[in-house]
Amino acid sequence: MEKDPQQVERLAEKRRDENWRFRSFLKMLSRQRQREVNRMAEQYGREAESQIDCRKCAACCRDNAIPVSEEEIARLARQLGLSPEEVRAKYISHDEAEGDHIDARPCPFLTGSLCSVYDSRPEGCRGYPYIGGDIATRTIGIIERAGTCPIIYDMLERLKDAVGYRRYR
Ligand code: SF4
Ligand code: SF4
Repeated sequence: MEKDPQQVERLAEKRRDENWRFRSFLKMLSRQRQREVNRMAEQYGREAESQIDCRKCAACCRDNAIPVSEEEIARLARQLGLSPEEVRAKYISHDEAEGDHIDARPCPFLTGSLCSVYDSRPEGCRGYPYIGGDIATRTIGIIERAGTCPIIYDMLERLKDAVGYRRYR
């Protein structure tokens, strides 16, 4: 398994077109076959997850916009000993596309490769890299995350081989 996020980014970029074709391939499968693919994807994702120490990677904390709710801002404020308004002013960006978010490129709460607000991190961080679920309806996000996260990159590559997807090298 490739664990170096920079290498993963390069490899995923090379396979970007192939991955988009794989998305079309998945959508053509029967519902029954898609359910099997979902099970395989979850299994491969969990296996990859067990092989990597996220505390040494933190690539997702250097390459994402993390959505935050009012409640999450309040939770961060309590942990940081600031008011919600101060948290907003210091750490929260807002735009039409992404709404309120922490601009994690890199995240201001990242210390080395560890999260300094771990107990108060937003749901978007807790759920990442979103293993499981219906892969055929989530491939856009999966292809995007394959360029950042070694777990998703590995899962996607194994999945392509397992379903007999014909690559064009
Ligand atoms: S809040 Fe913590 S877990 Fe979330 S992106 Fe920032 S450093 Fe990473
Ligand atoms: S979820 Fe993925 S990108 Fe984030 S730290 Fe773990 S392996 Fe790295």
